[in-house]
Amino acid sequence: MYQEDQHQETTRRGRIEVICGSMFSGKTEELIRRLKRARFANQQVEIYKPAIDTRYSEEDVVSHDSNSIPSTPIDSSASILLLASEVDVVGIDEAQFFDEDLPNVCNMLANNGVRVIVAGLDMDFRGTPFGPMPALCAIADEVSKVHAVCVKCGRLAMYSHRLVPNEKQVLLGETMEYEPLCRACFLKAKKEKEQKTEEEAPANDQNT
Ligand code: ZN
Repeated sequence: MYQEDQHQETTRRGRIEVICGSMFSGKTEELIRRLKRARFANQQVEIYKPAIDTRYSEEDVVSHDSNSIPSTPIDSSASILLLASEVDVVGIDEAQFFDEDLPNVCNMLANNGVRVIVAGLDMDFRGTPFGPMPALCAIADEVSKVHAVCVKCGRLAMYSHRLVPNEKQVLLGETMEYEPLCRACFLKAKKEKEQKTEEEAPANDQNT
């Protein structure tokens, strides 16, 4: 468990914290909260996000409730090493979109005394582990899994169910195209989709 009292904001100590979860789970809000606290403690904070994520703004890490912090969009995780010299705390948002070298980069930073806080989707819309997130969870000092609320039944949700028919793993520009679901409701939605596809298939045969 992530415990604030175990982390002294005033001491420089290398570590990796991962905040993971589904869409609408408050990952970015939690990242911003921790980064703001570090800033209040007069620590040098830098925030990076993948250049691919341009949903709201080119320069800000923006959470869904518009609580934003300025950030630098970068193309590859290696750029963080070049940019983050003389920094106490590095924040990384939308980590699932970064390359597979990100865990390595985070380790190097933490080994040099930097506190690294990473937020990202742990699973894609199919419910499979997303990009470098599983490896990041493995090497982290602390992992916080945050949850959304299932829109069908009100239980804790951990899946980002895609509402539009599209099989691409990365679909940007979106939030309206996803809903948070719990395990039971996600399975149900998946089965309903499969049935629908089966029903549509014979109809197509008749037409040809
Ligand atoms: Zn549910």
